[in-house]
Amino acid sequence: MVELTPKRIAEFIAPFRVEPGKRVRLPRDFDPSGTREQSKAEAKEILAAGVGLLAEYQERLAAQDNYGVVMVLQAMDAAGKDGTISHVMSGVNPQGVQVSSFKVPSSEDLDHDYLWRYAKKLPERGNIGIFNRSYYEEVLVVRVHPQILAGQKLPPRLKGRDIWKRRFREINDWERYLSDQGFRFVKLFLNVSKEEQRRRFLARIDLAEKNWKFSPNDSKERMFWDDYQKAFSEVLSNTSTEWAPWYVIPADDKPFARVAAAAVLAHTLIEIDPRYPKVSAEAKAALLAAKADLEGQAPKGAAPDPIEVELTEKAARKAAAPKVAKKPAKKPAKGKKS
Ligand code: AMP
Ligand code: MG
Repeated sequence: MVELTPKRIAEFIAPFRVEPGKRVRLPRDFDPSGTREQSKAEAKEILAAGVGLLAEYQERLAAQDNYGVVMVLQAMDAAGKDGTISHVMSGVNPQGVQVSSFKVPSSEDLDHDYLWRYAKKLPERGNIGIFNRSYYEEVLVVRVHPQILAGQKLPPRLKGRDIWKRRFREINDWERYLSDQGFRFVKLFLNVSKEEQRRRFLARIDLAEKNWKFSPNDSKERMFWDDYQKAFSEVLSNTSTEWAPWYVIPADDKPFARVAAAAVLAHTLIEIDPRYPKVSAEAKAALLAAKADLEGQAPKGAAPDPIEVELTEKAARKAAAPKVAKKPAKKPAKGKKS
């Protein structure tokens, strides 16, 4: 098993981070096929180690119960958002994770400010909320298709050309407010190439079990590829901040993308460094009083505290085990005189 140290994770994800204030131009600045040659087997191994690490940190996040994590996934169609979600979360407790997928807004959504429906889906403290698409659609699909903005019920004087700059500011402010409230952001742009998208669309058409994933609208959206690249470039240039930086994940290789996504989440959890709460002296005393009471209720012949017996035995086995393992394996132990 690969050892996943915080340093190794930080180094692994550094090339994907969008430095706040940096102007990004896609596809020039980030290569969808990735910067490192990484074998599928190694990627899988790191993912396995990463998933174990995520599970432990998630439990601590829930126990500490003051920070929360919002993971935002944005991408072109077929970039692998769904697969990333299921793989990244495969080891964690479903009770601590909420996945929200955002589609075309309902008429109730349109009757409110644009952040309203996203605010309703924010995770509780102690939890991880995954946004499969997000409020960033409000500066992506809505920008690429002016008729969507036309259908939003904003007063006309607020629909001017400065609307995108304003929305970037509003999104940055909202994320800053939330991070001041203890919510950390993991913003991932899964960066797939146009040719790889074509391949994946064809797989969805040619393989019967993938047909359900394809809609003819997907190929229509593909015709706006360049507009989306521009809109994404603007998003990355304007909304990568110290409190909520973007990561551009090379997504042409699915296993690699999953490892990278898990690594960014792991990095964020390591930074939070959640701890199990310490029990106060009073609470400890109360525990011991309850223990004495329960021990007093032991039926005849039963150990007063069978758990304590098990723990003592387990500790003894553990203490004995390393000694055996440390012996040189050259000679069989049998031949030894004691
Ligand atoms: P999918 O995620 O493939 O099921 O598709 C969801 C669809 O909803 C996509 O075509 C998105 O562009 C669209 N969508 C998501 N959020 C918004 C939004 N805020 N305004 C308009 N369309 C959206
Ligand atoms: Mg779709």
